[in-house]
Amino acid sequence: MNEEKLLELENVVQSYHSGRRTFVAVQDINLTVQAGEFVALLGPSGCGKSTLLRIITGLQRPTSGKVLYRNQPLHGVNSHATIVFQTFALFPWLSVLDNVEIALKARGVPASLCTPRALDLLDRVGLDGFESAYPRELSGGMRQKVGFARAMAVEPELLCLDEPFSALDVLSAESLRNDLIELWTSGSIPIKAILMVTHNIEEAVLMAGRIVVMDKEPGRIVADIPNPLPYPRQRKAIAFTQLVDRVYGLLAGQTQPEHVEMGTAPGEPGQTRSLPPIAINDLAGLLEHMAITATPHVDIYQLASDLGLDSDHLLRLLDAVELLGFATILQGDVTLTPLGETFVEASILGRKDIFATRIRRLPIFRWVFALLRATAQHHLGWNVVKAALELEFPPAEAARQLDTLVDWGRYGEVLAYDDRNELLALEPEADRVGVHTA
Ligand code: ADP
Ligand code: MG
Repeated sequence: MNEEKLLELENVVQSYHSGRRTFVAVQDINLTVQAGEFVALLGPSGCGKSTLLRIITGLQRPTSGKVLYRNQPLHGVNSHATIVFQTFALFPWLSVLDNVEIALKARGVPASLCTPRALDLLDRVGLDGFESAYPRELSGGMRQKVGFARAMAVEPELLCLDEPFSALDVLSAESLRNDLIELWTSGSIPIKAILMVTHNIEEAVLMAGRIVVMDKEPGRIVADIPNPLPYPRQRKAIAFTQLVDRVYGLLAGQTQPEHVEMGTAPGEPGQTRSLPPIAINDLAGLLEHMAITATPHVDIYQLASDLGLDSDHLLRLLDAVELLGFATILQGDVTLTPLGETFVEASILGRKDIFATRIRRLPIFRWVFALLRATAQHHLGWNVVKAALELEFPPAEAARQLDTLVDWGRYGEVLAYDDRNELLALEPEADRVGVHTA
């Protein structure tokens, strides 16, 4: 790897004042980015990711600490860095070509060179043929491509991306991710390093060479994990899913050994943790409620009265959020984990991905996957699976477990259930990580 140091943050602190209160948004950030690195910054909402990008690009000066670019203290806007935001602001009255040319003109590129260079950039992001279209005529994905072309027109050394794919539909997001990986790995763009903020664990593992995990209150770095997987990365590869699991583990703040936290598979020694029979909507509602109540810890009794739930129902929900790694429960206090916050923040499809990744780790799901995979058609009658579950649970409980399994599996799109024939089947993508990655 190239050992050219581009960016260096030393003990960076950003605090904000509101009224008489001082609030520490990020604390003691030490981060170095070398040329050749693609770094993902991952963490719950409010941990200070956007704040850091603003500091790095010089849009904001930190309260204290050093920001060095190529060993020089940064003064004012960082001319070596650009930011691409979630939705790229294009000028609606300018054509695609003009939107890119304007960035070149602003950089002082001679007029005669602007058009050929803009055309070349548009070609590289796959917008050949759309030069004279207007932003409103383009899909979200294509607009974001214009945004990338414009960011590259600036030829930044350091490209900063703030959740660049999260506002796109599933297919556009995936194809733009691949385009960016391709541009990056082919070395056909002059960009020396990428720093990408994301909420999406699979996206970080798919794209970045290093994953910096943050936590909040105060915003800080809690892990810095290298990702040595070679490109192009295979979402199905064991090493890929293992790394995804590891990052999930960091965000979920696993507090107990895995076999205690998740239980063991039916028929294996150890306790099979039963799935609490809860509806996904109730689960999402609980997490959303916890996310908006400002206090980090919520008292269980307070929660029951806030939500107007009877305590049995609430305890089943809490059991589920704990099993899924969305919250920790300690001495009557419930605390959302960063994974739980990420779930609340995510889009509908993003939530499904997080849910799917987590339930794939549950021994009871692994067990049912193995059962289904062992059959020729990858499907089994509900009754057959229920009979198998009766090795572990009494009949009524086995039925309840299976219903919950189907319900959760359908939500995560890892299991399909044919009501008419009462057949349980493996979704073709069941063992794939991040089907949606939205
Ligand atoms: P992230 O991008 O990780 O969601 P941000 O960097 O946007 O986090 O925000 C970090 C924390 O700082 C949040 O609690 C946010 O409310 C607060 N914050 C961000 N910008 C300001 C500001 N200009 N004034 C006051 N508080 C701010
Ligand atoms: Mg942000």
